[in-house]
Amino acid sequence: MRQVQTRDQLWAVLRKWRRSGSRIALVPTMGNLHEGHLALVAAARECSDRVVASIYVNPAQFGEGEDYERYPRTPDEDREALEAAHCDLLFAPSDRTMYPGGLADATCLQAPRSLSAILEGAARPGHFDGVVTVVSRLFNLVGPDVAVFGEKDYQQLLVIQRLVEDMGYPIRVVSVPTVRSAAGLALSSRNRYLQDEQRGAAEQLNGILAAAARRVIESPGRWQEAEREARNSLEQSGMRVDYVAVRRAVDLDRPLPTDRDLRVLAAAWCGGTRLIDNRACRLG
Ligand code: AMP
Repeated sequence: MRQVQTRDQLWAVLRKWRRSGSRIALVPTMGNLHEGHLALVAAARECSDRVVASIYVNPAQFGEGEDYERYPRTPDEDREALEAAHCDLLFAPSDRTMYPGGLADATCLQAPRSLSAILEGAARPGHFDGVVTVVSRLFNLVGPDVAVFGEKDYQQLLVIQRLVEDMGYPIRVVSVPTVRSAAGLALSSRNRYLQDEQRGAAEQLNGILAAAARRVIESPGRWQEAEREARNSLEQSGMRVDYVAVRRAVDLDRPLPTDRDLRVLAAAWCGGTRLIDNRACRLG
């Protein structure tokens, strides 16, 4: 696996691949890689000839007081994990490569408000603007045929799908189901912030969302009750809830009686660690 940092180094490699007609897949990450990220690399391999993984902790998507400074950075382990997963190229740009004129004065994109001002976006104002800005920049630099994202960040996945549609990128977005620990906890770089005694509570999140999804499937008209119950269960497990919501899978709007494809989404604090998770909820 090769590793490059600058735009020119990246383009030198990509030019050769394109000349030979290779299909290129991009897996954007912020590093501190785990099995969830590696499932994305595996999916990328399935649908391309060459896989580029990027590692960049994007300051634009972190809000004031969030964990940008202490976000785990593990470059050596990440490199080894990507090698073992048969990734072809690691693009690990500097801030200067990503924001040549500095972030404060950068050209930025704005995510559509209907998707970016709710749920994660309401809890983290400006977050999705930072996401679409960095992802569009990565798309422009790499020019992939395919880009792979995780369902773990379901709202982000919808925001990226809209980015591709709205900006006309000739890129196919592939999504990968959430990879979980044996106890059901969605793998996340932030799980390492959890103290031992908080892990048990964190592991309840998935089960509580699954129970809410079952409730909605049994009584679709009572989705608000399912939200309330899930919120209570999370609080009883000792978590502080940012949101629990049953929404339409297609656009995260509130469900209509005719909707069949729903999603239960939540964000909750377990001590100082913010967890997010979601479950599909398909009505018969
Ligand atoms: P991050 O490094 O957290 O920005 O995540 C990079 C990509 O990995 C995003 O597309 C995430 O949705 C995806 N991802 C993170 N955790 C998981 C997981 N547990 N299962 C599947 N995909 C994941």
